[in-house]
Amino acid sequence: MSDQNPYLSLIVPCYNEESVLVETYQRLIKLLNPLAFSFEIIFVNDGSTDQTPFILDDFAHKDQRVIVLHFSRNFGHQQALSAGLHECRGQYAVIIDADLQDPPEIIPEMLNLAIRESANIVFGQRVTRKKEGWFKKISASIYYRLLNFLSDVELPLDSGDFRLLDRQVIDTFKELKEKNKYIRGLMGWVGYKQLPFLYEREARFAGKTHYSFTKMLQLAIKGLLYFSKKPLMIAMNLGFISVLIGLLLAIYVLVSKFVYHEAVTGWSSILISVIFFGGIQLLSIGILVQYLGSIFEEVKNRPEYLISRRVKQTFTSEK
Ligand code: UDP
Ligand code: MG
Repeated sequence: MSDQNPYLSLIVPCYNEESVLVETYQRLIKLLNPLAFSFEIIFVNDGSTDQTPFILDDFAHKDQRVIVLHFSRNFGHQQALSAGLHECRGQYAVIIDADLQDPPEIIPEMLNLAIRESANIVFGQRVTRKKEGWFKKISASIYYRLLNFLSDVELPLDSGDFRLLDRQVIDTFKELKEKNKYIRGLMGWVGYKQLPFLYEREARFAGKTHYSFTKMLQLAIKGLLYFSKKPLMIAMNLGFISVLIGLLLAIYVLVSKFVYHEAVTGWSSILISVIFFGGIQLLSIGILVQYLGSIFEEVKNRPEYLISRRVKQTFTSEK
C-alpha cells in the first residue's frame, strides 16, 4: 500500500439528500480534521434527482479528500455501498448513512476498539431508535430475529450497515462475485473477528426516509433469500403436510362411502380444503419464483451499477 492511500475511508450513500448534505459534510470534517490520520470521504450519488449532485461536486471541487461517484440512475442503497467499498483505498472504511442517523462522533471510538481488540469488523448495534415509528421498530425487531432463525449464517441483531471494516475484509468483499448483494448479511457471512459497538440511533437530521414500506419489504426478502434455503424447505414441508392431510381425508371419504354407506354432504369442508391447499401451493410457488428470479438476475451477469461520472480533484491546492 502506497503512502498516498488514506488511513480511513468514509463511504456515504446519498439519494436525494439535498437537505442534509452540507450539515453531514461539515460534521464529518469537524470530527476528522483534528485527528492525526489521513482520510477520504466517498459520496456515492445514487441517481439523485434533486440538488444532491451539485452539492457533492462542490464538496469535491473544494476539498481534495472528497471523491464523488455518480450513478447513471438510482440503483439502490446496497449497490451504492458496494461501489464505495470498491472505490475506497483506506486501511479502514466506515459505512455511514448521509442522514446523520448514525452519529459520526462514534467513529473514532469504533476505530479505537478495532485497533485495541484487533477486530476486523466493528458493527454499530442500535440500542434505541429515537423518533422512529412504532411500526418500523417492531417490524425491524421481528425481522432481524426471523432472519437469524432462518439464515445459514449468524447475523447480528439490530444492526444496519453502519460499520467499520478493515482492509482484509474490504479485499474479501471485493472478491465476492455475486451481483445482488445484501451487504449486512455478507458482512456476517465473511466471518473474521467482529465486535458490536452499541449506540443510539438518532432521528433523521432532515428530509424523509427513502425506504418506503415496499422497499423495506424488498430488502427484507432479499436478506431472507440470499442467506437461507430454509424457505424452500418450509415450502416443501408444507407440501408434505398438505398431501398427508389430503390422503387422510380421501381415506375418510372412501371409508364413509363404501363401508358405512353414508353420502358425503360437507360441501363447505371441501371448499375450505380446496382453498387451503390451493393457498399452500401458491405460496410455495411464490417462494420458488423468488429464488428463480434471483438466479435469473445473477445469470444475466449485468454490472451491479453504472458510474456515469467520477469527481475527484487531481491537483493539490487547498487542504
Ligand atoms: N439511499 C441510497 N439509495 C436509495 C435509498 C437510500 O443511496 O435508493 C441512501 C440514503 O441517501 C441514506 C441511506 O441510503 O444515506 C439510508 O436511507 P434512508 O435514511 O432513507 O433509510 P432509513 O434510515 O430510513 O432506513
Ligand atoms: Mg436514514
